[in-house]
Amino acid sequence: MTVLVIGTGGREHALSRALAHDAGVAAVHCAPGNPGVAAVAALHDVDPMDGAAVADLAERLGADLVVVGPEAPLVAGVADVVRERGIPVFGPSAAAAQLEGSKAFAKDVMAAAGVPTAAATSCSTAEEVAAALDAHGAPYVVKDDGLAAGKGVVVTSDRDEALAHAAGCERVLVEEFLDGPEVSLFAICGWDDEHGAVVHPLQPAQDFKRIRDGDEGPNTGGMGAYTPLPWAPEGLVDEVLATVLRPTVEEMARRGTPFTGLLYAGLALTSRGVRVVEFNARFGDPETQPLLALLDSPLSPLLLGSATGTLADVPAPQWRPGAAVGVVLASAGYPESSSKGDVIRGLEAAETLPDVHVIHAGTALSDDEVVTAGGRVLAVVGAGDSLAAARAAAYAGVDAISFDGAQHRTDIAQAAAED
Ligand code: AMP
Repeated sequence: MTVLVIGTGGREHALSRALAHDAGVAAVHCAPGNPGVAAVAALHDVDPMDGAAVADLAERLGADLVVVGPEAPLVAGVADVVRERGIPVFGPSAAAAQLEGSKAFAKDVMAAAGVPTAAATSCSTAEEVAAALDAHGAPYVVKDDGLAAGKGVVVTSDRDEALAHAAGCERVLVEEFLDGPEVSLFAICGWDDEHGAVVHPLQPAQDFKRIRDGDEGPNTGGMGAYTPLPWAPEGLVDEVLATVLRPTVEEMARRGTPFTGLLYAGLALTSRGVRVVEFNARFGDPETQPLLALLDSPLSPLLLGSATGTLADVPAPQWRPGAAVGVVLASAGYPESSSKGDVIRGLEAAETLPDVHVIHAGTALSDDEVVTAGGRVLAVVGAGDSLAAARAAAYAGVDAISFDGAQHRTDIAQAAAED
């Protein structure tokens, strides 16, 4: 089968790579992709936000499946345009992507479905924000209601900082603070009349959102991730399936907007039980990179099953034993600013290390050299029999690579590996 992946980041490189290694996939195309994706897919210069152009390209290529990677095109309805042309597409409709596109909408769905989450107050004036901060108390959690690439949330004990963040947004949610470790649980979701919701959870993973070691500094799109989680309580996946994933997918269907595609539950394991921190409507970046490194069964049947209402016929995903760790290399100034055009050295040396591969996110070609294109630049993924071995592989890869101003965390998966 021929698959077209839409997007330009590390997630799309990881998806394209997994599809290229899938015996059921004859050709992988990506629009627009990046220099890393070019090694595993044919690239096409098409704007991911232009639904008609994406659908035209899919028709021209004879694509059997289109996989929409990022949230922005999903929320903008690109999957709907492709689906209307009769082409199977992995990714929710614009209506269903509101689970990610509006935090207030997600809270409403969770309330209706009885899904446990942080209490929240939706505010659009400074007075409402001040009152909600005082009602919820410190630490304060203030979230931009709309899409903000993982950077719309401030968690702080400084009331002025919380007020200032809210002042920069049109509408915010002020939330109860959730204590406890975070888990990312992804699920491939499908819907058909006979079975209703079909949900295949992936392995739990954990990402590291803050820029600096020890979870210091501002939130980012994610600085690293690992899977599996040796410390996760037994039965966690079944519990989340029963209390979060199924009720949410069923509530979306009840509303006439079934959710198909990838439902990402960001969870906090609090002292009072599991709570949803957020939903995303697509594969998470960087968790996808280590997850797909361990996926043993082919990816394409899961994505096609979700896209065509036949997921009930697809076996649950199988995982390799061992662990995988992804460490992100970000450009100078990230996340406040962005530096571009720095030459990246050591990519080939890193790729030749055992159990290491490099996923490109923000890279570009300049005079045949791979250079940074801002933001998160690369994710170096290591796999191994244990988390310690996977970490060692990933950091050996990181050590082989250099560019001006490169930033990375040195503590990805460290605590879990020492467990
Ligand atoms: P979100 O965009 O909603 O995932 O939030 C980004 C990050 O902010 C989360 O991964 C958490 O680390 C943190 N965060 C969000 N909501 C809360 C909350 N209610 N309590 C504590 N931390 C939170």
